[in-house]
Amino acid sequence: MKIICIGRNYGAHAKELGNEVPDKPVIFCKPDTAVLKNNEPFYLPNFSKDIHHEIEVVVKIDKMGKSIAPQFAHKYYSEFTLGIDFTARDLQTELKGKGLPWELAKAFDHSAVLGEFVKKDNYDLNQLDFNLYKNDALVQHGNTKDMLFSIDAIISFVSFYFTLKTGDLIFTGTPAGVGAVGIGDRLIGKTEAVEFFNFEVK
Ligand code: MG
Repeated sequence: MKIICIGRNYGAHAKELGNEVPDKPVIFCKPDTAVLKNNEPFYLPNFSKDIHHEIEVVVKIDKMGKSIAPQFAHKYYSEFTLGIDFTARDLQTELKGKGLPWELAKAFDHSAVLGEFVKKDNYDLNQLDFNLYKNDALVQHGNTKDMLFSIDAIISFVSFYFTLKTGDLIFTGTPAGVGAVGIGDRLIGKTEAVEFFNFEVK
């Protein structure tokens, strides 16, 4: 199983980090050891002093595919969840400054938090409203209609480079409002009706 992530997929978030809005999806990967699920606590790693939350819609691929046309991409996933792409922002800033890959800042253990997966049929993923609360305060609000590249466009794009296999996950980018987490914080990801994850930072 592989985890493919999209960076800078919401214009307001790209700008809050001082990045240009991309004309092609920005792609990076995490290993399967990055997964954290079942609302288990996230332990702050000792190599960063600035771990940021990035709430994202995550889709699970359920059919093998390669070079998928955008109009067929919806056939390759039937479930999604909300998750967090934890990012060591201090390391990432250092790596970006040197023009180096981001993996140390993005792909570390438990950096890919997954909520509970649900069937996409009951939702409109082209205009899904989602929120991240930190200790009862709303810190990130997003709507998938603001994505620069839609879920189907992303699946099509990445499938021309990576064969997609059953169980692969795609993190589709975070809206504006990213920020640091600290020990004792509780992070809750939800849509209006459904809570997808609720866990503590330790
Ligand atoms: Mg992200």
